[in-house]
Amino acid sequence: MHRHLAVYPGSFDPITCGHLDIARRAANIFEHLIVAVAEHSGKNMLFSTDERAELVRASVADLPNVEIRTFSGLLTDFVRQTGARVIIRGLRAVSDFEYEFSMSLMNSHLAPEIETMFLPTSEGYSFISSSMIKEVYRLGGDVGDTIPPCVLQALAGKYHS
Ligand code: ADP
Repeated sequence: MHRHLAVYPGSFDPITCGHLDIARRAANIFEHLIVAVAEHSGKNMLFSTDERAELVRASVADLPNVEIRTFSGLLTDFVRQTGARVIIRGLRAVSDFEYEFSMSLMNSHLAPEIETMFLPTSEGYSFISSSMIKEVYRLGGDVGDTIPPCVLQALAGKYHS
């Protein structure tokens, strides 16, 4: 059991400035943070698991206490394997709450020793979501200030190659 360790899981398809803000703030609280990129074999992803993990890696390169891992299967199984007792999730609006709340209840049903901690989005990031960014980019909108530069490049590679 590692009290100094937390896991921030997500799809990160792709990572945005909103995700990055949550990761940074969690990395300020915990000695070590694992950003866990879910494989989601069934879900329709724009980027492969390796691409998503690589974009996360490049985006958090300046944070020495952040590690990037990929996982498949149950999040609680993965978190148990790491020895962490805390799952970090971000909350944007009321609309996130119901889903995040029921997921945290299910996770604590599966693994009562693991707590979910929610960090509220920072001002200015509440409107940012991976799905919105992909849609706006695809339609030609400027999303440059909502994602790390490597993600902008990767989106260009996906849509213009
Ligand atoms: P998932 O598919 O697991 O919901 P996401 O990659 O969409 O994965 O999101 C991972 C976590 O980051 C979720 O807790 C989500 O609420 C949070 N998150 C996403 N965008 C933002 C944002 N702009 N501000 C704060 N938290 C965010």
